[in-house]
Amino acid sequence: MATKPASVLITGANRGLGLEMVKQMVERYHSLGILFACCRDPDRPKAEGLKTLASKYPNIITVLHLDVTDLCSIKTAAQQVGSLVGTGGLNLLINNAGILLRGNLQDTSPEDMHTSFNTNVVGPMNIIKEFQPLLKTAAKASGIPGMSSKKAAVINIGALLGALESVPYSYTFLPALSYRISKAGMNMLTLCASEELKKDGVLFSVLHPGWVRTDMGGPMGELDAQESVKGMLNVIATLTKKQNGGFLDYSGKTLPW
Ligand code: NDP
Repeated sequence: MATKPASVLITGANRGLGLEMVKQMVERYHSLGILFACCRDPDRPKAEGLKTLASKYPNIITVLHLDVTDLCSIKTAAQQVGSLVGTGGLNLLINNAGILLRGNLQDTSPEDMHTSFNTNVVGPMNIIKEFQPLLKTAAKASGIPGMSSKKAAVINIGALLGALESVPYSYTFLPALSYRISKAGMNMLTLCASEELKKDGVLFSVLHPGWVRTDMGGPMGELDAQESVKGMLNVIATLTKKQNGGFLDYSGKTLPW
């Protein structure tokens, strides 16, 4: 069996790739310690699938309220997680929640920019800041040398559309200006954080899930969520110091920034 982290937190876990990650993690890692499945509206119908899954694995899945645009909810979630993981800390944090607003230069308003940036960059930044003590604790407590996702890691779910090199061949097909800029910002956030926390043994990578048939990816996507997540979990399980600050896709291929 692949190496497994003892504690994991996933944002945007109520549908799409986030929900599929929760599903596959509990099925794949039978002795996973605790999985914090975060969503912004746990009591709304759109979280039903997650709650049903959580009721099947009550000893593993803890559903938490976390709106990535709300610092208060991030701080509260960090406290709740801290009290549950104790001295073991948090091994793996997956910043998955995201939004995609369509629109080119002409159609994109300053509000669209703020919304995209708040969700896709400021949210993950605040989450990394608030959870870093727990990640550092995990790195120390693990006693494992080097860097890995079973020790302490942050995976930011990025997008090929945020790669500078993708613009000439993909912009006409899908402009999504505010999304692209925010995902490019997430790439820089990942690099800066990886530089800052490498001394603490916390690994950071950006993962592109592929073009996936979710609400965001739409029905024309090239992959289903199952395949994408299976690939991403394989990649996450094999990350080492070599991929710290790296940008990879679901198959493990290194992507250009
Ligand atoms: P979906 O639109 O299917 O799901 C998005 C998830 O993010 C939902 O759970 C949603 O919750 C959550 N979310 C959005 N805003 C917030 C918020 N403020 N606080 C908490 N949760 C929030 O998208 P995917 O599953 O397809 O995408 C997941 C990630 O993968 C995203 O970061 C996306 O950019 C990235 N990605 C996806 C690709 C694809 O082809 N699908 C391609 C490249 C990257 P709610 O139900 O409450 O809205």
